[in-house]
Amino acid sequence: MQQSLNIYNTLSRSKEEFKAINPPFVGMYVCGPTVYSDVHLGNCRTFISFDIIYRYLSHLGYKVRYVRNITDAGHLESDADEGEDKISKKAKLAQVEPMEIVQKYTVGFRQVMEVFNALPPSIEPTATGHIIEQIEMTRKMLENGFAYEVNGSIYFDVEKYNKEKNYGALSGRNIEDLLNNTRELGGQDEKRGQLDFALWIKAKPEHLMQWPSPWGMGFPGWHLECSAMSNKYLGAQFDIHGGGMDLIPTHHTNEIAQNIAFCGKHPANYWIHTNMLTVNGQKMSKSLGNSFLPHELFTGDHPLLDKGYGPMVVRFFMLQAHYRSTLDFSNEALDASEKGFKRMMAAYDVLKQLTPSDSSTSDINVLKERCYNAMNDDFNTPVAIAELFEGVRIINSVKAGTESITETDLITLTDLFQHFLFDIFGLLTEEHATNNVGKVIDLLIDIRNSAKANKDYSTSDAIRNKLLEIGYQLKDSKEGTSWTTV
Ligand SMILES: [Zn+2]
Repeated sequence: MQQSLNIYNTLSRSKEEFKAINPPFVGMYVCGPTVYSDVHLGNCRTFISFDIIYRYLSHLGYKVRYVRNITDAGHLESDADEGEDKISKKAKLAQVEPMEIVQKYTVGFRQVMEVFNALPPSIEPTATGHIIEQIEMTRKMLENGFAYEVNGSIYFDVEKYNKEKNYGALSGRNIEDLLNNTRELGGQDEKRGQLDFALWIKAKPEHLMQWPSPWGMGFPGWHLECSAMSNKYLGAQFDIHGGGMDLIPTHHTNEIAQNIAFCGKHPANYWIHTNMLTVNGQKMSKSLGNSFLPHELFTGDHPLLDKGYGPMVVRFFMLQAHYRSTLDFSNEALDASEKGFKRMMAAYDVLKQLTPSDSSTSDINVLKERCYNAMNDDFNTPVAIAELFEGVRIINSVKAGTESITETDLITLTDLFQHFLFDIFGLLTEEHATNNVGKVIDLLIDIRNSAKANKDYSTSDAIRNKLLEIGYQLKDSKEGTSWTTV
């Protein structure tokens, strides 16, 4: 029997034994992307971390309903309800409909998740698809006395809420500190208190995305959608809520306040937060010029990268740090992960060909227990991987004839590798990851070459242009035609 699963809960700032509210069912809500630009690697790390958690809970036999939203309205440029809506702004710049921006980046996000072999969530609800629920939640918060209206906008009254409840419970900060650290109210600000935040925002006539409400035309505040959608799909109280740790002080703190003000119940039992990515020890940011996109990492087409790395190498690299630690990108670290990934996969190939003996020189059950113990200790993937490398050593020694393994142990070890590498870590063999797409593109390149040879340039151009449309760029040179993702 394995030890119980322990999860670090941001709410209690300690590891707690995981107890599902209604086993074997588990409800998990993770804050998804705001689809106004290409998904960046920091987001990818968050979603890959929750993919591991989703996969591990499923592996343990839980039936997980995993809800991850798409923010397609209401996310303003600043957490303090200021600036333009990120999606509207991009739509204006590109002179397209906001929903075209949403479509483009939602599709792009899903493609990147698929390339990383992250499983799709059970439900992927959108903010614009749940305006009615958000209006209803706002109405109830007004009725319960935790919100107030000013000129067609509705604000959450943080100081009033804090008299009865603890507003800073998740961040561990008390309201006096928060008030001291908040800038003074500007003359234009219509909020009563410095910490108050918008539930519903009155739309100016030129605002591109707005809906009718009991308070006039407007749009929801960003924090509201997650409260409304988690409540709708997982109930008033569910098991796990997650996201990047940057969401703790404002977005998640406000979500909790909204849910409690709405129905009196704290929404989630376990709050899980992932740490950020750094590059050569510095925070990854667009302004520092050290942020790169997933496809730049795959092709190596970035000044900071010596070469490209396959999506599975990047996934393996991410798993080699615990989700609560920072993860530092450097060429050296990625090279080391690439070697490790290849060594692990090569050992798995050897494992399938080993011949059993009458006795085992290593205790495979102890190895198995250590792997599970690592995952049960707050999903500690780096320790689990280190334990699997002990398995790699055993496999290579058995192959070299310096160690031996019984048939029963061989089955246990094969199951262990299969479960951990593919089911839990979600890795794919390199063949799996690249071969299918690569084979199809190579086939299209062959067809294009024959068309060119026949002077059928409309077909050859159509193949090149269609491939580019779906993200693959062909490059002709003296050596022939190669392709990259764009
Ligand atoms: Zn959220």
